[in-house]
Amino acid sequence: MRPFCWGLYNPLVHREIDYALARRATIREFERGGLSRRDICDAHPELLRAARHLGDDSNDACPICAEEPLKRVRYVYGTALKAANGRALTSADELENLRRRHDEFACYLVEVCLECSWNYLIRMSLVGRSHAG
Ligand SMILES: [Zn+2]
Repeated sequence: MRPFCWGLYNPLVHREIDYALARRATIREFERGGLSRRDICDAHPELLRAARHLGDDSNDACPICAEEPLKRVRYVYGTALKAANGRALTSADELENLRRRHDEFACYLVEVCLECSWNYLIRMSLVGRSHAG
């Protein structure tokens, strides 16, 4: 499935923060022995549940255990979202509906491994009517 926030990427207006460098640094530190699995494979049970039931499949293997392809979960945050604030999205349609109804909110894309509980925030995007077009 196409990632929901993909079309929003535009580094010129800083409406997106990509955490790829920090992610790579964390993985390197683990490989060097500076971090243990317990330090980095600490997904909260709620996050694991959301990844299992709502997450998109990715083609990327887990960087820590290499056992499982990673799941990707999207969370939305914004006080204007009311009941949806802090929720994991269930579908691309849900994001599209929120985007049409609200001026601005944040969408967080998190990768999760169901095997070893590795989890990492990949990207934060600001979305909504203020960011259309
Ligand atoms: Zn893993």
